[in-house]
Amino acid sequence: MAQSYNVLIGGKWVGSAGGQTREIINPANGRVVALVPQCGREEVDSAVRAAQQAAPAWKAMTMSERSKLLLKLSGAILSRQKELAELETMEHGSPIRKTMNFDVPLCAEQLEYFAGVARGLTGETLPVGPWCASMTVREPLGVVALITPWNFPALMVAWKLGAALVTGNTCVVKPPSITPLTVLKLGELAMEVGIPAGVMNVITGPGETVGEELVKHPGVAKVGFTGDTATGKRIMRIASDSVKQVGLELGGKNAFVVMADADVDSAVEGAVFGAYFNSGQVCAAASRFYIHESLYDEFAEKFVEASKKLKVGDPMDMATVMGPLAYEGHRDKVEGFIARAKKSGAKLLLGGERPDTPETRNGYFVSPTIFGECNTDMELMRDEIFGPVVGLARFKTPEEAVALANQTRYGLSASIWTKDVRAGMAMAGRIEAGTVWINEHLIIFCETPWGGCKESGWGKDLSTMVLEEYTSVKHIYIDLTGQAVKPWYAILK
Ligand code: NAD
Repeated sequence: MAQSYNVLIGGKWVGSAGGQTREIINPANGRVVALVPQCGREEVDSAVRAAQQAAPAWKAMTMSERSKLLLKLSGAILSRQKELAELETMEHGSPIRKTMNFDVPLCAEQLEYFAGVARGLTGETLPVGPWCASMTVREPLGVVALITPWNFPALMVAWKLGAALVTGNTCVVKPPSITPLTVLKLGELAMEVGIPAGVMNVITGPGETVGEELVKHPGVAKVGFTGDTATGKRIMRIASDSVKQVGLELGGKNAFVVMADADVDSAVEGAVFGAYFNSGQVCAAASRFYIHESLYDEFAEKFVEASKKLKVGDPMDMATVMGPLAYEGHRDKVEGFIARAKKSGAKLLLGGERPDTPETRNGYFVSPTIFGECNTDMELMRDEIFGPVVGLARFKTPEEAVALANQTRYGLSASIWTKDVRAGMAMAGRIEAGTVWINEHLIIFCETPWGGCKESGWGKDLSTMVLEEYTSVKHIYIDLTGQAVKPWYAILK
């Protein structure tokens, strides 16, 4: 039977005022697994107020005290690793081998990293003159709204939560409508380890209402958003009414460039990882492949063969490496891209249909799909598909490869595959993207900044840079002259 959940406001678990709920569906089999409240303006207001009330005491704590609470939360996540991994696999369809070994431990690691690194946060003293002391201090922003996507339900929250909380902000988290369960569990663990009531609130409901009300709310100082570019643009417009800060981690259409001297076998390994990790539901997924004409046929053949070997199936099975897409509507959207690509002149090399096995029949699965002979005019090479669907195209010269990689409205990431790392470095400097990998695709660390340019957004998550995103700089000036009338007052005398 489906379990009923409540939302977390001011340390209490409550339903929505109107009593409406939403069904949460396991995408591997279409079964309803939970009911969550559909919150509205009333709950948004209560959650923001709870966060406002908790803010002064949380800000007044030392960095060390907040850091220790985050470390406890990190430990609690690890101690409930299996439970959290199973919950996320159930609501999202991500294989259990991934949620157990990647998502959940990384959530814990994110919090551990920010608990440590924030303790090195400093201000500056500014050598203005001997008659004063001039300094900068970093202060929390206040209440921050964290609005996150469904592709890594818990991890996308952890990316922001650690930095936001340790620096003294309180928050209202709005997880995605279709996958809120793991984030509600994080809220429960936060309460268990003693994070004070109101510091972390979690409310569920539609983005168009709960999300937008948070963006509009005068009590919210900043919106940390990860999601679709269209939503990000809308949030930016709405936030401008109150001159609210926004951090935008948006979509991508990431190039994977295989140079003439690349090691084809390692490029194929990287391609499989870059294209199909999380069923391709990754902002940085490798999706536009540009391959030097001399290697194109060999790369295409080996990539197709390697893609055929992936075990697609029941995500609760430790042997499964690719699960379903996260919800039915998204599966339909991805299938729409495939249908149009088939008519576009691109050559279908693999997949293009639903896998048909007893394990996959009732879920929202799409087979690994590769199109060859693509060109940049095709929708397949322009728009973010967010599924296990890629396009391959040929290029002749490095200049052409750079031009093709940059022929996109997005600027999130790209990879270059070459044995000549000096040439790779030169190309990396010319590619318009927040991250460029050489002989790798998709690897991300707590220590490395993450965030795109162009329509992939602005601001950074991860690394010490994100600490700046969740604090504001205050300049404090102390007069040391001891004089009532300073020389510069002469201008009015
Ligand atoms: P989405 O924009 O539909 O939703 C993201 C969040 O915003 C959800 O919580 C949703 O409920 C909320 N939302 C929706 N409409 C809103 C509105 N009008 N006002 C306020 N909030 C609103 O995105 P999605 O489909 O959940 O996620 C997929 C997208 O996220 C892809 O484009 C992907 O590339 C992007 N993404 C980017 C990064 C990155 O780091 N750049 C990481 C992960 C995902």
